[in-house]
Amino acid sequence: MTEHTLTVAGVAVDTRHWIGGRRVASAGTFTDVSPIDGKAIGAISRGTPAEAAEAVAAAKAAFPGWAATPRAERARILHAVADGVEKRLEELAIVETTDNGALLRSHRRGVMPRVAHNFRFFADWLLTLDHEDFDTYPSGGSAAGRGHTNHVSWDPAGPCVLITPWNAPLMMASWKVAPALAAGNTVVLKPAEWTPLTASLLADITAEAGLPAGVLNIVQGYGSEIGDALTSHPDVRRISFTGSVPTARHIAASSAPNLTPTSFELGGKSPLLVFADADLDLAVDLAVEQYDNAGQVCLAATRILVEEPIAEEFTRRFTEKAAGLTQGDPRDEATDVGPNIHPRQLEKIDGFVRRAVAAGARTVIGGHPGDGQYYAPTLLTDVAQDSEIVQEEVFGPVLTLQTFRDEDEAVRLANDTRFGLAATLATGDHERADRVTAQLVAGTVWVNCFFVRDLQAPFGGSRESGVGREGGTWSFDFYCDLKNTVTAPKGWKHHG
Ligand code: NAP
Ligand code: MG
Repeated sequence: MTEHTLTVAGVAVDTRHWIGGRRVASAGTFTDVSPIDGKAIGAISRGTPAEAAEAVAAAKAAFPGWAATPRAERARILHAVADGVEKRLEELAIVETTDNGALLRSHRRGVMPRVAHNFRFFADWLLTLDHEDFDTYPSGGSAAGRGHTNHVSWDPAGPCVLITPWNAPLMMASWKVAPALAAGNTVVLKPAEWTPLTASLLADITAEAGLPAGVLNIVQGYGSEIGDALTSHPDVRRISFTGSVPTARHIAASSAPNLTPTSFELGGKSPLLVFADADLDLAVDLAVEQYDNAGQVCLAATRILVEEPIAEEFTRRFTEKAAGLTQGDPRDEATDVGPNIHPRQLEKIDGFVRRAVAAGARTVIGGHPGDGQYYAPTLLTDVAQDSEIVQEEVFGPVLTLQTFRDEDEAVRLANDTRFGLAATLATGDHERADRVTAQLVAGTVWVNCFFVRDLQAPFGGSRESGVGREGGTWSFDFYCDLKNTVTAPKGWKHHG
């Protein structure tokens, strides 16, 4: 224990950066707050551009050694990290809940097991990436058909900057850190300022697992103060960012002079399409599920689109089901909807709702803040397609309900936003599902389910919901530099 250690729900958390395998304190600090009660948790090192540069230098220095580490050894260490996550699962769960207010029961049973799984999956997937060999295609070019071979290898790219949001802090961090490290890269991770704690615990876990110094570095602080030092650094070879569209635009500009490849996972305004032939109980469950994490989910289907003949019945059953939700302390197993992350976020949510109501929306349920940092689960109807509440991401427990007359109108409404992250369909007709899915603009479409994610599948958004895809081989596509080596057959002479 040092003056830099906080005790959070009985767990010791270091408040400093993690650079080159040691703890580094900043002169300045910022205060981390718990959204459960709005009280300060403690002071966290407030990184400076110089410290960000120090972290990149540490990642650069560690890169040759880690890149040259055999794949099997890298995979072994990542499995040891997963073991560490599983061993400390309860601690990670309670610290994350204290820091970001998401449900403890979700952290225990869904999120933290998934964090461990991210490390295991990418460690294993690395070992499946074959070096591809093929003969030169027998047409065109001077060497065609003369027995030259091609050998494609997945080379590590270099130091990566990984920037994560607050709504799923360790999940998002591990989703990026695991493939980046598996690929043989080194990392500088910048967690969101509202949720710095579990990243610090991850540093401890990776050190215990034997990850060499400098392979993973963590800098705490404000994106506005240290972001540019990371994203415009010429030694950084990849940037993976999850967060908002304006920040992505900023990073795209700051990384442009170096032509640093970027992967962006951004916001959404995803639809849930409920057709008259759907299993209505399932459709209602899928809709009410959108209040999970108090609506702070990028993938949330916040626009419910219901076929006219069942709209009344759907709304009745939805209202009944939503009335059964328990809102309160996220540490309580009985709680379904916890607090929102920050008073600023709460104000933003309430602003959206007030302006929607002023513009003519009808409040079916909710529509107001609760005690403390809570917002009542809200459903608004009578909303215009081009209105702010239908077009902009709220990132709170606020859903809209619109109706459609036929498939064409459903597709038109579904696609009519700047986003394209996900879409969910409830229908009993698989041919209809195929027809509609083919026309939707979305990185992920769920048919009669929601939030089921296979790490082998590509994940990302279209339009303003993102650039690029990660997951399975797509993650390695991003985090690796592919190299093709062409070898002439023995005795081959160049004929010009
Ligand atoms: P944000 O403001 O863009 O912040 C995200 C991260 O970027 C934070 O770590 C932030 O640091 C950092 N940042 C801020 N300014 C920066 C700069 N100039 N340079 C570099 N980094 C900078 O987003 P947010 O509001 O926290 O997160 C919510 C958004 O994320 C929503 O739009 C949501 O849909 C999206 N999201 C998308 C996915 C997905 O997979 N598609 C998943 C989760 C969330 P600070 O914390 O210090 O500001
Ligand atoms: Mg916090």
